[in-house]
This record gives sequence, C-alpha cells and structure tokens, in this order.
Amino acid sequence: ATPMSVTVGVGRAAELGILIRDAEAMQQAANIDTVVLDKTGTLTEGKPQVVSIQSYNNLNEDQLLQLTASLEQGSEHPLANAIIQSAKQKGLTLSPVSDFAATAGMGVSGIVNTQSVMLGNEKLMAKHNIEISQVQDDFDRIAAQGATPVYLAQNNQLIGIIGISDPLRSDSLSAVKRMQDMGLTVVMLTGDSYKTAQVIANKLGINDVVADVLPDGKAAQIKQLQQQGKRVAMVGDGINDAPALALAEVGIAMGSGTDVAIESAQFTLMRHSLHGVADALELSKATLRNMK
Ligand code: ADP
Ligand code: MG
Repeated sequence: ATPMSVTVGVGRAAELGILIRDAEAMQQAANIDTVVLDKTGTLTEGKPQVVSIQSYNNLNEDQLLQLTASLEQGSEHPLANAIIQSAKQKGLTLSPVSDFAATAGMGVSGIVNTQSVMLGNEKLMAKHNIEISQVQDDFDRIAAQGATPVYLAQNNQLIGIIGISDPLRSDSLSAVKRMQDMGLTVVMLTGDSYKTAQVIANKLGINDVVADVLPDGKAAQIKQLQQQGKRVAMVGDGINDAPALALAEVGIAMGSGTDVAIESAQFTLMRHSLHGVADALELSKATLRNMK
C-alpha cells in the first residue's frame, strides 16, 4: 500500500499544479543535487520573435524575410514559426518551397523562387563550406542581446542574418535563485549557440552552460553528469529533450511542452513556472521525511 504521507504529497503537489506520474518519483526527487534546465521553452517563454534582419546583398529586409519565411514553411521548429508570423504580420506573400530538407540541430534548406536557399547555424554553414567569418561582428552583436542569430545563404553565398529573440519567463530568475539557495547545482543545456546561451545564463545567475548541443546529445550530457556521481533532475519541453528527461533520475516537463516530453517525464508543471521545479523537489523531501 502507498504510505499515507505519499498520498498527501501527491495531493499537495496537484494543488501546486504539479502532476506526478508515480509515487516512486518523489523518492528519487528527494535526493537530487543537480538541476539541468533546457533553455528554449523552459527558461524562456518559447514564443520567439524576429528582432533584426541584416542584408548582405541587393535584397531589402522584406525581400529577405519573404525568402526565409517561404523556406520555413517546410519546418515545424519554433524559429520557423517566428519567421513565418513576422512575414505574415508585414503582409508578405510567401512563395512555394520545393526540395525541402531539415537537418536536426542545424537548420533547413530548399528551393524558393528558383534559388537554392539555406538557413541555420554555424554548423550548417560549415557543412556546406559557406564563408561566414566576414560577418562575425554582426553575429556577436545579435548574440550579445541574448537573441539567436541564424545565417541565410543563397546558392552557397551568405546573404543575411536574421536575429530571433525569445523572452525569458518573468519568474525564471527568481526560480533559479531559489534552486541555488536550496543547495542545488543549476546547469543550462541548449542547442543554441554558446554566445547567446552565455548572455542568457548571465542574466539568470547560471554558471554552468552546455551549448551547441545536437538534439541527440542532450541525453549524453545527462549521462556524463551521472558518471560524475550527480543525481540529476532534467527540465524540458521539446521533442529533443525527451531522451534526457527519460534518462535523468527525475524528468520534469513543462505543461506547455510537446506530448513526447510530457510522456517521458515523471513530473509535469501545469503552472508554466520554474518555481514548480523547486516546489516539486521541496515537497518530495518533506514527504520522504514524513515517511521516516
Ligand atoms: P534548441 O535546443 O534551442 O531547441 P535545436 O536543436 O532545435 O535547439 O536547434 C539548434 C539550432 O539549429 C537553432 O538555434 C538554429 O540555429 C538552428 N535551427 C534548427 N532548426 C532551424 C530552423 N527550422 N530554422 C532556422 N534555424 C534552425
Ligand atoms: Mg526547449
């Protein structure tokens, strides 16, 4: 039979907007010493917006946005969504995309307006030998604002950079502080570039940043922490967080996250606040104490 204190704990958690899959998860959660937080959609709202468009050829901002948004019609990535919404807000008409391909953790490519176009990060540009060193100042300036710069290439020539920014959740800073005050080590884990991640981590007082992680690399990072003897809670929302959520001692999904993330986690936060992580860990400790 489930001890009374656990039943009370699960009920109390529900009041705080924390859904617990099984009572055993509370036992694991009581012993966590490290919390790994995904950036996009977890520390941030997951509602990115286009904040800058930089052109390096004869196309103006609207034309670059039209080209980029047309390409992104093939993608379901949050960045794609931001770009398409921005184009629609400006009343731009999108062109069809053909030969579309997405490379996980890197970006997208396809044919738009009879041109071969490509949009993504440094890894994608490197893979296609596209020279980007001449625009490092622009990249750094956008990243320094905590935004994500993505490179746009046409016929294997760099033609632009789009800056996309996702606001922090209003209480991420206080939630991180609370976890640190509980004696937990807080780590940020992201597929975004190190420069952007570092700026956001600084704002949040997070010292440990693992960035430029490919989608299948997140679970490997959790494994590495476990091999160092850490007992890890992973917090995430995306498809690419699911293996890491499953591997961690405790997986905690954002209620706004993808179904796969929620199914891979033992805890789900319905209040869309990272204070739910601190609540869940505190409550688990209290519940276990009451059992002894
Ligand atoms: P995250 O952990 O932030 O969800 P992803 O692994 O999904 O990161 O993506 C990593 C990086 O790959 C993005 O920051 C972006 O630079 C690039 N990228 C991936 N998909 C796209 C896309 N559809 N459009 C533009 N860039 C993309
Ligand atoms: Mg995410």
